[in-house]
Amino acid sequence: MAASLKNCLQKIRPVIKEIQAYHHVANASGLIKLDAMENPYHLSEGLKAQLQVKLSEAELNRYPDPSASALCEKLRQVMQVPEDKAIVLGNGSDELIQMLAMAVAEEDVCLMSFEPGFVMYKMIADFVGINYVGVPLDENFSLDMESIRLAIAQNKPAIVFIAYPNNPSANCYKEKDIEEIISIAPGMVVLDEAYHPFAQTSFMNRLAEFDNLLVMRTVSKMGLAGLRLGLLCGHPDIINEIDKIRLPYNINVLTQIAAEFVLENISVLDQQAKLIRDEREGLLEEAMPALQVFPSQANFILFRVLKKNANDVFESIKQSGVLIKNMRADAGLLKNCLRVTVGTPNENEAFVAALNKGIGK
Ligand code: PMP
Repeated sequence: MAASLKNCLQKIRPVIKEIQAYHHVANASGLIKLDAMENPYHLSEGLKAQLQVKLSEAELNRYPDPSASALCEKLRQVMQVPEDKAIVLGNGSDELIQMLAMAVAEEDVCLMSFEPGFVMYKMIADFVGINYVGVPLDENFSLDMESIRLAIAQNKPAIVFIAYPNNPSANCYKEKDIEEIISIAPGMVVLDEAYHPFAQTSFMNRLAEFDNLLVMRTVSKMGLAGLRLGLLCGHPDIINEIDKIRLPYNINVLTQIAAEFVLENISVLDQQAKLIRDEREGLLEEAMPALQVFPSQANFILFRVLKKNANDVFESIKQSGVLIKNMRADAGLLKNCLRVTVGTPNENEAFVAALNKGIGK
């Protein structure tokens, strides 16, 4: 290796070098894609045609509205953000997690969440060079309050992230446990409500009760994953600080136009979410004796393969043309677990057939 290249690589922080296969995204070409919690439905041809006209009028030569004010107002209305709370937008909610982490990043500061949980909380803590504490969930993927009380007292986390429902377990935690965490946390508590359309329960209307509570949402799971748009809502004094970290124009003009247009037609996405919730019920019933299926309040289901190796079942399902997510765990709470996103009735049928074949039913 040339010396100059070696020197460059030496400058990269060890914590970054240790990160393996950053955000490995499986190749889904030619497969039915049930691995990434996307909404499988499209807009109608009529809505697509109207959207096309709006997008063709976008001034691509100009920078977008830096505060995306029209879009913010639409989001406030659709997501029922309380009037006295502020909103900051991110290029996906991933970017909001990054902004939050950057806002608190100092030596000895830690972010806290629960394991198994959404991997980006830890990854982003690593990116910005702060500590991450992942408190294990109990065997039902519920919050282990005794451990959490201790971990909060010991680590004094600047931010606690609570995915509600959780990814990958798909459950919502008990409200009273979350209330306790908000009241004992010494810093911010972010309720990550990415899967809100499928859970239909929220802390958005409780923002008034807790100054340290922030509610995060995304349009990704609603059917607009390609736009990359998330929002963080909470006390204006906190949101104003986070907003200082936001890069100018982080929400591009096409996203602003498209999101505003689709949100004006929110009933379409609401109907799609309902179809997904209906399809979720009983999806894995047929295969039940061979699986342990965890209850879901999201658009995906976590299940454990009981009598076979999950890696073999995953590969067999893939051979049959369906891509799901292999949790790749030989031990721990996710041992022998796979995760499937709820698709269209046809996709789900293909998945169930592939699964039955995989488990030898
Ligand atoms: N939060 C949770 C719990 C998630 O599972 C995901 C994506 N899988 C996100 C946030 C990120 O969503 P976005 O597409 O808005 O970055």
